[in-house]
Parts: sequence; structure tokens; C-alpha cells
Amino acid sequence: MDPALGPPDAMAEKRDELTPMMRQYHDLCARYDDALVLFQVGDFYETFCAAAERTARLLEITLTSREDSTGEYPMSGIPIDNAESYVETLLEAGYRVAIADQVEAPGESSGVVERAVTRVITPGTLTEDELLASEDNTFAAALARDGDTLGLALLDVSTGEFLATSADSSERIADEISRFEPPEAVVGPDAPADLFSDACMVTPYEPEAFDHEYARETLARYVRNPDVLLASDAEIRACGALLSYAEYVRGGDHEGERGETETDNSDDRDTLNAAREPLGYVTQLTRYDPREYLLLDAVALRSLELFEPRAVHGHEDATLVGVLDETASALGGRKLRDWVRRPLLERARIEGRLDAVEELTGSVQTRETLHELLRGVYDLERLIGRTSRERANARDLRSLRDTLAVVPDVRAALEGTDCDRLRKLHADLDPLVDVRELIDDAIVTTPPVEITEGGIIAEGYDADLDELRGTAREGKAWIDDLEQRERERTGIDSLKVGFNAVHGYYIEVTNPNLESVPDDYERRQTLKNSERFVTPELKRREDEIVSAEERADDREYDLFRDVRRAVAAEVERVQTLADALATLDALVSLSTVAATYDYCRPELLEDDDQKTSGGLELEIEGGRHPVVERTQESFVPNDVQLDDDRRVAIITGPNMSGKSTYMRQVAQIVLLAQVGSFVPARGARLTPVERIFTRIGASDDIAGGRSTFMVEMDELATILREADERSLVLLDEVGRGTSTADGVAIAQAITEHVHDELGATTLFATHHHPLTELADDLEAAFTLHFAVDQTDGEVVFHHEIEPGAATGSYGVEVATAAGVPEDVVERARTLVAAEADGDSPPSMGDSNPTESEAERALEACLGEATQTATADGGDVPADLAAELRTLDLAHLTPVEALTELDRLQRLLEE
Ligand code: ADP
Repeated sequence: MDPALGPPDAMAEKRDELTPMMRQYHDLCARYDDALVLFQVGDFYETFCAAAERTARLLEITLTSREDSTGEYPMSGIPIDNAESYVETLLEAGYRVAIADQVEAPGESSGVVERAVTRVITPGTLTEDELLASEDNTFAAALARDGDTLGLALLDVSTGEFLATSADSSERIADEISRFEPPEAVVGPDAPADLFSDACMVTPYEPEAFDHEYARETLARYVRNPDVLLASDAEIRACGALLSYAEYVRGGDHEGERGETETDNSDDRDTLNAAREPLGYVTQLTRYDPREYLLLDAVALRSLELFEPRAVHGHEDATLVGVLDETASALGGRKLRDWVRRPLLERARIEGRLDAVEELTGSVQTRETLHELLRGVYDLERLIGRTSRERANARDLRSLRDTLAVVPDVRAALEGTDCDRLRKLHADLDPLVDVRELIDDAIVTTPPVEITEGGIIAEGYDADLDELRGTAREGKAWIDDLEQRERERTGIDSLKVGFNAVHGYYIEVTNPNLESVPDDYERRQTLKNSERFVTPELKRREDEIVSAEERADDREYDLFRDVRRAVAAEVERVQTLADALATLDALVSLSTVAATYDYCRPELLEDDDQKTSGGLELEIEGGRHPVVERTQESFVPNDVQLDDDRRVAIITGPNMSGKSTYMRQVAQIVLLAQVGSFVPARGARLTPVERIFTRIGASDDIAGGRSTFMVEMDELATILREADERSLVLLDEVGRGTSTADGVAIAQAITEHVHDELGATTLFATHHHPLTELADDLEAAFTLHFAVDQTDGEVVFHHEIEPGAATGSYGVEVATAAGVPEDVVERARTLVAAEADGDSPPSMGDSNPTESEAERALEACLGEATQTATADGGDVPADLAAELRTLDLAHLTPVEALTELDRLQRLLEE
């Protein structure tokens, strides 16, 4: 166990002798022994012993020590005011952080100040805005096994979104996990923890929490009929355990900011206490079947650049979600991401979204009005989450109220709309007038951040408060007039009334006037030139003011918490409204993109109830790559037509001619259509695709420590095992990470298998030119290519797809374009020409120089260059020679080889 966690050894040995404060620290560490306890002492969060040494190192803060009668303990502390950034570092280092706050004011009770863990901060259960990206959900996951079934539950603690699913295959569940990328997971007994990525903090959690009966009981406190709603016991176990965990990280049953805490003194960690209050913000559980959505595994998610850009573009928002996101609110941004993560299969649902997008695309005014209004929408889901967790301050409630105030205008803007989806949203947009009025009546327009110091509750909301304020005001008015009155009474014109923090109100008389002081003045303070006095009446008034003000602050705090609870009671209605606003924002965003970038409505070819067993049909006219077209000046549209008779497209063309762009654009257009978005094309007709598989590019799995070739074969194995006639498969440069002969053989075998056995619709880009001949042998295979023009040794790319196979690869010319030195290119050209002249006959009867030949030529060329470099002897630095020797020629493409050579040459010149 990490020595920084749990009670420090030095304290554990002598717990009973410790000072009361250190005993408190020890006990909290024992109770939250999987978290680093940050222990409030005044304005600091302190850690002690091993935890102090660890935090000092991680946070680069000073290690000090604390000495008391029982010993000296290493200590390090962080200021509470900017604890957040430190907590972030601790989370990144893989710790959970338990915040142990002082939950009573010092001096409030006789003994040591009471402390309680008010929350446990973990990577998957963050609610702090500062630590949490707002544009996407952050889910914590739980994985449970029940027989052969795996159940997966996902909960976003900041918004209350709660999902459950299950499957009999661990691959299916792994795919769902990669869709949501939870940063944290708890796993039950026998559940396969390795389905989560390395970036996820995985903890085996109390087996009881996963126990079927126990989990069912936990869940029943949230959901009416768990057995009816959920499809399997595994789901019940996962959901119940995840809720237990979320209850645990909420911390002790700490009641609020002022310390009316009911700390539980039992030594047991309170994790499994069924008497706990449910988490108010969890009001709805959505159960889904992975088969309801287009399935994208981790590889496809990455290679289609849905959320993460590919390094080559160098643009941070060069992602599919980046080009689609014109949302006005954080709510809408998250909704859009959820749609992209889970594209639909059901035609009716897709058409529902498309109808709305079409209507909004057609009406500039409605669209722009809505966008403008939605900009005034705060993050309602998180606001109500905080309200329900009793963490919202008065400003949060005002933000909530300001959002509600926008709703009537949003409704009005939707008034004349036509399609079902927009009509339904119109109906769902409940402006929650009661909630808004409550906040309007109760809370002042610009309240302070602190909720314990008054100034929050509006005049006229509460008679008692008004009376207290009245008393204070009256007293102050009496004092304001006092100066004038006393001047008249005493005849001392220079008499002054003042206030200081130590003595309170006083009457000040300068020394020359002291004889005129009346008898009822009592001396309080003597200054150099004057004396300060009070009168019994002044003291009485002052006490009255102070006590009225204190009582008013207390009253305000109580009233505020009542208002907050009353708002929290409406959590479900607020969440429904939030969902409607989010959906509307996402639809407006899609229509803005459609109108701005000239997208068209895709046509879906099949009714939900008429699914045939046949393959896919896919016809795109003038299609564009949604991401690439944004990153460059002009983009050449291309068509595609695939159906049962033309299922396997073998695409050739030189490097950089546009093959992989073309393949990805087909997949992204399909995906967009199933999200319910318009697509970048002149026209598109398609049957919904059930799965998209990709095997694109030769990216080494560096973290996984596997070679390019292993990664490639692994991805291929998945495709060959799982693809079927409802799948769209993209294969780019298969068989690249091995020798040419092996590569061709593997690529050919795969193409045949995909064609004969799987029936999957496949786009296959290859630089192994001989493979194009397969199109003659395989019934449903055909060829496409990207041609280039060559003038004066310069290559011109048209990026236009054409029928048939390419005639050559132009690898050498591309090398010139990439800036490889002329002499190297010249030499390569001679070698290619020699090969084409018959020095070594091309395979499969192709008389044109193929890329593999060019590759061999360049390898030879590279070999010569290497030799020359080393033969030069003396002045070749040893490290450079070593680099040259270790170049893995079998894994480099010609262009990569030449670029590498160029880099080495430059090094030599330096
Ligand atoms: P390949 O896979 O054939 O090596 P890519 O698809 O990677 O080629 O395309 C290379 C570059 O060419 C892209 O980064 C893009 O800048 C440009 N490109 C590709 N397709 C098009 C197109 N249809 N219109 C304009 N430029 C394109």
C-alpha cells in the first residue's frame, strides 16, 4: 500500500496518546484509507508524515514539521484559497483526495474543532468547475459480472446523467468503454479490469456493493422498478455499486457551510450505509443496448478523428466534433458530443433530427434568434447538480434564474415551427415560473459569493428578517443623528461620533471642550488631544444593532438554505428543461453548420421495419471531407457508389493523392448522417451502417509497446472476426509493416476473405499495385484510382477519384515535392527506370513501375547513401553512423526513407 495513504505509522502506534487534533487526523486517514486526506487547520489544508513528504515533493511545496507533546511530525500545507490547482496535480498523480474541513467555527464547542470529510475528489467524480472540462461529460464507470454477462454503469456526477448497458461479449463492453472514456472505474469481483484503458483509474471496490441484493436496494432508492428497467442482473450490480461509490465520494453527511454536521463517529468506513440520503441529482437512469447505436471501437474513434485531432493536421479543432460545434451553451456542446459518440441506427430517430435541422436550416431568422438566446443559457445541469448537493451559492441560484428567464423567449422563437421534434421541444420548455419567482422574490440581483455573511435575501421576502434589518437600520439612523443632537445639547461644535472595531461607537471631545461634557458621558479612551466617551443609551443602541445584524445574517443563511432546498426539490423539472435546451442548441448548431458550409440532407434508404439481409447501399455525389475541407483553401469533391454488386473498392494512387482522405470522408459522411446531421456533399443516399471498422495508417502503439506490424495485424484480426454485411470497413495500406511479398500476400488474402466471407462494404487503399488485378477475379470488387499529372518531373495532384487502377505510383516525384535533395532523387529515378526496363521483372505482369519497385529502388539508393556516408570515415560522427545503421528500412516508405536521409544529411552539414 502507498505509505502516503492510511493513518501514518508514527501515529498509529500511539493513537490514544495523540493530541485530540492529531487523533482526528489519524482517524480520518484510517476511515478514508484509499485517499490522501487534506486536513483543514485554519487557512490551510495540512498533511502529515509520509503524506506530507509525498505532497511536498509532488506539489513542490515546503516540508515543515509540527511539534507537540507527543512528538514531531513532518507537515506540509497548501493554502485553501488556491487549493484547486494543487488538488489537480494530486489527481494527475493518481490520488483520490479527501477534503477534511473544519465543520464548526473555532470556539463554537469546548474541545478541538470538529472536522469531517466533506467530499472525496476523484478523477471520475469531479464537480468543481475549475477542474472539469465543461464541453464534455466526465463519467465514472462501474463494471460488474454476473455469469457470462458484463454490466456497465456510467454516471456523470456533475450533471446526474446515469447510463447502463450490458453484453455477453467483453469486446462489446470494451467498445462501450472507449466511447465514453471514463477516467475512473470501480470493478466488481471477477470483472475484467483490463477492459479499461491505462489512463483510467481502476479500483476493485467493496464486493458487498456489487452484491446483487445490496445493489438492488441501493438502486431502488433512486429508480422505481430497477428489475423492469434493467435487462440483466449484471446491470443492477453495476448501477448499485456505482451509486454506492458516488455516495461514498460525497463524503460524510456533512450538512452545509456552517457546520451543522452529523458526523458519524463509527470507525467503519461509511460506504455501505443504506440509511444514507440518496444523491438528489440522480433522478433518471437510461438503459441502452449497444446495438441501438452505430458501433465504433476505439480504433475507429481515433482514426476518424471524432474527438482527437490527428497530429498531421496540426489544428486543435481539426476534429469532426470541432467542425460541427457551433453550440451556444455548455449544455448544447455536451449534447452534441453525445450524439457524435453514439450515432443512431433507427431511421425514425435519425429522420426526426434531420427534419428539425432542415427546418432550422431553412429559416435564418429562427436559427439566429435561437442561437443568440441560447448564449444566455448557463450550465443548468451543473447548476442544479450543485444546488442539489447543497454547494450552490446565491450567485448560482441567480444564474439558474437568469437561464429560466430566457425560456419564454426561446419558446416564442419556436412558436411557428412545424416538425415534430421542434414541436416536442416547444412543449418540453417549461419556464419553471414558480422556481424563477421564488428566486426573484428571495435573492437580491447581485448577491455576494459568501453565503454566510448576509446581503443575499431580498427585502420583503421574510418579515422577521425585515424586522431585524429595520431594527439595525433604526439604530444606525439614531446614531447618525446623535452627533447633531449632542452638539446642540452640549454646545460643543467640534464633537464627533465615530466607530472603531475594538471599542465600537464613541463620542469624541477635544481637550479644550472637556469641561462641557455632561454627566452621563462615560470615559472609554484617552488620546493625545481628545477623549472618547460613550453613554448608556449609545451602548444599548449599539448592542441592539450588533445583535440585530448577527441575527439577520443567521436568518439569511437559514432562508437561503431553505430556498436552495426548495429549488433542489425541482431537480427533475430543471433537468428536463436542461435536456430540452441542450437538444435545441445541438440542433441549431447542426443547422448553422449545414447552412454555412453548404451541406445537404442525406436520404436514408431503408425503413426500420423493412430491414433486408442484404448489404449496404451507399451513394454520395460530390462528397467532401468535413475536416480537411476546413483546413485548406480548396477541396475537390468526389463521388462514391457502393452496393451489393460493388462492395469492395480497391483504391490506388500515389502517396498524397488523396486516398485516405477519400476513405475517411466516406465514413464521416455516413457517421454524420446517422448523427442526424446534414452532410458535406451535393447528394447522399445510404442505408444505415451498423459498424464502422478502420485500419488506417501505420501508427506505432508506443505506449502499448507493440510494433506497427503487430498493431496492424491486431486491428485486422478484430475486423475479420466481427465485420459483417452491415459493416463499413476502411483498410489503408494493409501489409505495410512487413516485406513487400508478405505484404501483398496478406493484403490479397484479406481482400478475398472480406469479399467472399464477410460481405462487408469495404474501401481498400493500397500501394501494392498488383492487388488491383483482384478486381477481375472477385465478383463484387472494383477499382478506383487517383491520377496525377506529371510535367517536367513535377507532379500535379488533382485529388479526383476515377474508375480503374492507377498506372504508377510516382513515389519518386512525391519525394521531390517533399523537398528531398535533387541528387538523391535523380539516382532513385535511374534505378526505377532500370527496373522498368526489365532488370527485374515486375510481379503479376504489370509493366509499369509500381510503388513497391520504387520502394526497392529507393532502399538501394538509401543503402548507397549510407555507405558513402560511412566510407567518408573520419568526419562522420559516431552517433550519426549509428543512427544510419539502425534505420529500419523494411518499415519505411520511400518518402519516409528519403525524408529521413535528408534529415541525416542536414545533421552532417551542421
Ligand atoms: P494518400 O492517402 O493518398 O497518401 P491523403 O488522403 O493523405 O493522400 O491526402 C494528402 C493531402 O492531399 C491531404 O492532406 C489534403 O491536404 C490533400 N487532399 C486530399 N484529398 C483532397 C481533395 N479531395 N481535395 C483537395 N485536397 C485534397
